[in-house]
Amino acid sequence: MTDFLSGIGFDVHAVTPDPNGHLMLCGIRIPATLRVIAHSDGDVALHALVDALLGAIGAGDIGEHFPDTDPRWKNADSTEFLKYALSLCAEKNTVLVNLDITIICEKPKISPQKAAMRDRLQKITGLSPARINIKATTTEKLGFLGRAEGIAAQAIVSLKC
Ligand code: MG
Repeated sequence: MTDFLSGIGFDVHAVTPDPNGHLMLCGIRIPATLRVIAHSDGDVALHALVDALLGAIGAGDIGEHFPDTDPRWKNADSTEFLKYALSLCAEKNTVLVNLDITIICEKPKISPQKAAMRDRLQKITGLSPARINIKATTTEKLGFLGRAEGIAAQAIVSLKC
């Protein structure tokens, strides 16, 4: 009998205006009029995804594995965090079945980048495109996300074992 595991992740980073800025989201560099304030590359989508994977296998959270006080992770490429989490999942004899991510921000517009994000995640996870979903929403200008003071992401995964 196949067992299924599920995991959920959430992440927020502050952003600040920068006319020549960019954001990293799902491993894709997106030109923007703001930049993230973070120890690593601040990829909230990948951080949420890593937490979802770690949650599914009972392996704690991203902060335990990659503390933001550790100079090794300064400006770190978050795709390395994802590869690490996937390797832990493999060690636990689990197989990723699907992933679903919601990016929450007022700007930049995410829709034009969704296909590139899915391609990037497909290459890293080995999932088929139909098993990768990326959504984007705003908070209707409400709160810190609506004021473009931050960017957030949620992720959920299913694994089989
Ligand atoms: Mg983070």
